[in-house]
Parts: sequence; C-alpha cells; structure tokens
Amino acid sequence: MSVKKKKRYKNIFFDLDNTIWDFNTNSYEALKIAFKKNNLHKDIPDFNDFFSTYEGINTQLWESYRNKGISKSQLIIERFGKTFDTFGLSHDALNFNNDYLQAMPGQKALVDNAFEVLEYLKSKGYQLFIITNGFKEVQLKKLEQSGLAHYFIRIFVSEEVKSHKPDKVIFEYALKSSNSRKQSSLMVGDSWEVDVLGALNAGIDQVHFNLGGSDSISEKERGYIRHSKTATYRINNLKQLKLFL
Ligand SMILES: [Mg+2]
Repeated sequence: MSVKKKKRYKNIFFDLDNTIWDFNTNSYEALKIAFKKNNLHKDIPDFNDFFSTYEGINTQLWESYRNKGISKSQLIIERFGKTFDTFGLSHDALNFNNDYLQAMPGQKALVDNAFEVLEYLKSKGYQLFIITNGFKEVQLKKLEQSGLAHYFIRIFVSEEVKSHKPDKVIFEYALKSSNSRKQSSLMVGDSWEVDVLGALNAGIDQVHFNLGGSDSISEKERGYIRHSKTATYRINNLKQLKLFL
C-alpha cells in the first residue's frame, strides 16, 4: 500500500454493509430468525441449504436491480419467491421478506475495529459520511440500532438518491450535498466493482477494504488504477486506515 502524506483528506465516505456493519453475519442471523418464525424447518431440515440458495439468488437479483432490470418490489418478492421455488414450497415470499427485514436492522455485529476506527477518525476531525446501496428505512435503522449513527454527518442511500453505486451520480450527489471537494475526499468500501470503481470513476481516491483477504489484483483492476488520476489504497483491516489518516 502506498502511504500518502497525512492530512490530505477531510471527508471520508464509507460504504455501510460489510465495511462497517457486518452484513454477512447479521443477514445470516436475521434469516435464521425469519426461518424459525415461519417454521421452515419442517420442509427444509438444514437452514444452511436455505441460506446458500437464497444468497446466490439474491446476489443475481441485486445485480439486475442495480442495472434497472427489475424494480424494488420485484427484488423483494423474487429473492424469497425463487428460493422457495427451488425447494418446491409455495410459502408467502412477501411475508417472509417482512420478517427478515424486521429482524435485520436489530442485528448488531460490526466489522472488526469499526467502533475504534470511527472514534479515532472523529477525534482527528474528519467529517464522516455513508454512501450505501440499499433501502432507506433499513439502512438508517441499522446505524441507529448499532449505535453508529452519531459518527456520520449524513447518510446517502441509493434508494433515496435514485442512483446506485458504482453509478457516479450518487458519488457526485454526495460530494455536492456535503460540500466536499474531490481532492480532499476518500471513499472506503469492501467491493471493488461497486465502491472502488464507482469512486474512481467519480474522481475520488479510494480505499479497497479487502475483507475477504485475497491480495490479488486482477488485470482489469490494474488497468483502471493505471489510467486513473485517483489513488487506490488496499487494506484488510479497518485499523490500517490509521496509517495514512
Ligand atoms: Mg459493502
């Protein structure tokens, strides 16, 4: 990781899911709660079968939603509708989705060192923001329930802004609304395709929080980095932000 001179940045934009809020753990727990509540054990003995099927379907549908192939309501119904179809069940998908969403924001698992690093950045005078793809009511609840809301000056949610990362519109909207200059802004996120590429295209320096730990950079990524005027950092623990912030 190249280390730039300190204090170059003033405004730090964080992704929420799997960058600060441990989406993977929390989603798993929330689905388990909904699964139990709906007595699905009698039809699907192993919850993990249900979970992995759902995950594959949900990832594909989110991609369609981001590309404007399907609407929010289609996404919500189909992610569980298709999962139930796979198991030959005719369970009420909308109802199940409501149970899942209700359980979701109450989950409080955070990414390692999230509190410590947010506290550090705040004490150093950085202005902190969130840019997140998701539904407004859900994302806001997650921040409030996990005690994180007070760290952030503003939360930019794709549903509200009507633009999804990596679309540069949401980044430009966030910069403008927060009176941030590109040169003194930094985007931190776990997804190369969504957070890093989006910020890079919007002219903002980026930190790829490589949560999975794979250190390999693809040729495609290398090409983007080479031709961009922005800086790209890579970390695998939030604590490493302290090395240059
Ligand atoms: Mg994320």
